[in-house]
Amino acid sequence: MNEDCIFCKIVSGEIATKKVYEDEDLLAFEDINPQAPIHILIIPKHHIQHLDAASDEQKELLGKMLLVARDIARQKEVAEKGYRLVLNTNPASGQEVYHLHLHLLGGRRFTWPPG
Ligand code: 5GP
Ligand code: ZN
Repeated sequence: MNEDCIFCKIVSGEIATKKVYEDEDLLAFEDINPQAPIHILIIPKHHIQHLDAASDEQKELLGKMLLVARDIARQKEVAEKGYRLVLNTNPASGQEVYHLHLHLLGGRRFTWPPG
């Protein structure tokens, strides 16, 4: 646990959120400032700063994040229509919280290229 990390505080229960999914490795919860009708964050419980700080040994954990996103998208009934996954890494991407998280966005049409 990183003492100064908002998402570690969400994992420990110190900060409350609307949980969508939880297992021994991962937590998924609703984004506090949603950018789409469905905006869920999928995070590892273990603190990892961002994707560039992830190791090859975390391959299974990283793969699981995608599969949990797939399952939540199905549950929320956006899988067929379509949805977007976003994983910001470091300042140029706009990353604000330095605890690895996968954004699942759905319920509207998204444009490309992204802003
Ligand atoms: P980033 O820009 O780092 O990829 O995304 C961070 C996301 O975390 C943002 O979409 C922001 O709204 C969300 N966020 C920041 N603080 C909190 C919080 O305390 N609770 C929840 N549920 N989401 C948060
Ligand atoms: Zn953290």
